[in-house]
Amino acid sequence: MVPGTARLTDRPLLDFRIDRRFEVRGQEVRRRVPGRKLKEISKRPAYTDLAAHPVPVPSGFASSPPVRLVREGSMAEESCEGCAGGSLDCEQCGGSGTQKCPTRVKCRACGGGVDACWSCGGTRDRDTRKPPAKAQRQVRTDWCRRCGAHDVACPKCQGQQTMPCGVCKEKGVRPCDACKGSKRVRHDPCGGKGYFTAYVEAEISHPVESDRKRVAAPPHLWWPTSWRAGWRVKHLANVWDKLPPDLPESLRAEVEPQLALARREVARRATLRYLPVARVTVDADPEWVYFAFPDRVGAGTDTETGTDILKVVRRPAKQVVLRVAGIASGAVVIAVLAMVLVLRVIGA
Ligand SMILES: [Zn+2]
Ligand SMILES: [Zn+2]
Ligand SMILES: [Zn+2]
Ligand SMILES: [Zn+2]
Ligand SMILES: [Zn+2]
Repeated sequence: MVPGTARLTDRPLLDFRIDRRFEVRGQEVRRRVPGRKLKEISKRPAYTDLAAHPVPVPSGFASSPPVRLVREGSMAEESCEGCAGGSLDCEQCGGSGTQKCPTRVKCRACGGGVDACWSCGGTRDRDTRKPPAKAQRQVRTDWCRRCGAHDVACPKCQGQQTMPCGVCKEKGVRPCDACKGSKRVRHDPCGGKGYFTAYVEAEISHPVESDRKRVAAPPHLWWPTSWRAGWRVKHLANVWDKLPPDLPESLRAEVEPQLALARREVARRATLRYLPVARVTVDADPEWVYFAFPDRVGAGTDTETGTDILKVVRRPAKQVVLRVAGIASGAVVIAVLAMVLVLRVIGA
């Protein structure tokens, strides 16, 4: 390369990720739950000063359940003021445990309608009804108790359209539907327990938020930004961890604002990956652009082992790539080809 004929610019690539864990101390909430739960709730950790109460920060950065605390001395069992022992007198039956019931019900066999009798249809007027077409082959052996005709009546109700009520056995009363005859109903607000448990609780949660900052290779270059290249890797677990001294200035400006301690942050895990890349163009060869970057041989991803070699790739410069990309649409291809030809002819 003859000096003065090549241009070199830094185009470092960046992939920075940070996970932050925060600590959120929620508001105190007064609770009142049905039942006697003093034993259960007093198993929870208790606090006296919520703001100062120490809670361990979950390890790792997976989501974690909130810690539920109860204020020391706030727990009490209170008897329900709306009932006695969890139940109330049944309002539906007035505490009698019974309710009225029809003595007779519609016949289930004939439906309680005109099919009760094929002669009177339940009206007592003989020969006013013919057997239904679909019933021609049925044999009826009972006589109708309404009109007296033979062999025409529903075998269940004998033409009467109703049958004795199977629930009350024609007594006219049955156990109350609401209380099933017990005269009392459950008091729902206290869950039928007759007691409430009152306490003050607070939650401390540790949500995790993730962020990413990237400076990727220009997409038209479709080139290897894979982890195989000699990306530099630096893990930052503390707010005071320093960025690598050889981190290019442009990347430092991207990353540094991300590293400030956030409000309520209690833990972090950050991974900085960067790849120094030089872009080289040669005046005498404008159709090509060269990229030089470290490549690593004899190493897996992320590792500090292995040896850096300098890798150089050659890619078509942008106006040539345009011609290739335009093939998607015929009209666009012709327009682009024409433009490229014009550029060639005028020597641009
Ligand atoms: Zn109650
Ligand atoms: Zn009742
Ligand atoms: Zn009849
Ligand atoms: Zn019947
Ligand atoms: Zn009944």
